[in-house]
Amino acid sequence: MSGIQALLNLQECDTQIMRSKKELDGLPEVKAIMECRAKRKEIKGKQDQVIEMSDEVETKISKLQKEEEKVIKKIGDLQAKLDSSSDYRVTTSVTRDMDGQVKRQADIAKELDELLERQIKVDNLADQVAEMLERVNHSEQHHTEHFKEKGGAIRDRIASLEAEREALIAQIDPDIAAKYEALREEKNGIGLSRLEGEHCSICRSEILTGELNKLLKGPALSECPNCHRLMVVREED
Ligand SMILES: [Zn+2]
Repeated sequence: MSGIQALLNLQECDTQIMRSKKELDGLPEVKAIMECRAKRKEIKGKQDQVIEMSDEVETKISKLQKEEEKVIKKIGDLQAKLDSSSDYRVTTSVTRDMDGQVKRQADIAKELDELLERQIKVDNLADQVAEMLERVNHSEQHHTEHFKEKGGAIRDRIASLEAEREALIAQIDPDIAAKYEALREEKNGIGLSRLEGEHCSICRSEILTGELNKLLKGPALSECPNCHRLMVVREED
C-alpha cells in the first residue's frame, strides 16, 4: 500500500470512529433509560404519599376500635347496674348514660365503615402504584439490555477500528502522520482532503487556476490553498 493510500484509508477509518462514537452517545436507549428513571422517581413519590395515607387510616381505625371496646365494656357495666337496681333515680340516670354510650357506639360503627371503605381505596391505589413501578422497572431493564447489546457491538467496532488505524499509521511517513494528527485536532477531526476537479473535497472551495496548475505539477500529496488540510492531488505517488 502506498503512503497516500494508507493516509486515505486512515481518514476513512477515523471518519468511521467518529461516526461510531456519535452513534454510541445518541443511542435511543440512553434517552429511554433516562426517561424510565425520571418516571420511577415520580412513581416513588406517589408511593410515599399512598403509604402515608394508609398509615393515617390505620391509625384512625385502631384508635376507634380501642374506643369501641371501651364503649362496649361501659354498656355492659351500665346494663349490669340496671339489672341489679330497682331505684328509679338510679335507673333513670343509668339509662341516660346508656343512651349516650349506645349513640357513641353507633357513631363509631359508622366512622369505622367509612374508614374501612377508605382503606380499600388506598389499598387499590397502592396496588396500582406497585404495578406502575413494576412496569417502569421492567421497561428500564429492557432498554438497558438493548443498550448493552448495541453499545457493546459499537464499542467492539471502535476498538477494531482503532487497531486498524494504528496499523495504517505505521505505514505512513511519521512527519506526514504527525501533520495529519495535528490537522485533525485543529479541524474538527478531518485532516485530509482530495482534489476533486477544481475543488477541495472538504472545504469545497474552488481552487484558482494558478494554484491548481501548481498543485497538478507538484507532488501527489500537497495542501489545500484554502483550508490548509493535507490534500491528495493524485492517488499515485
Ligand atoms: Zn480545503
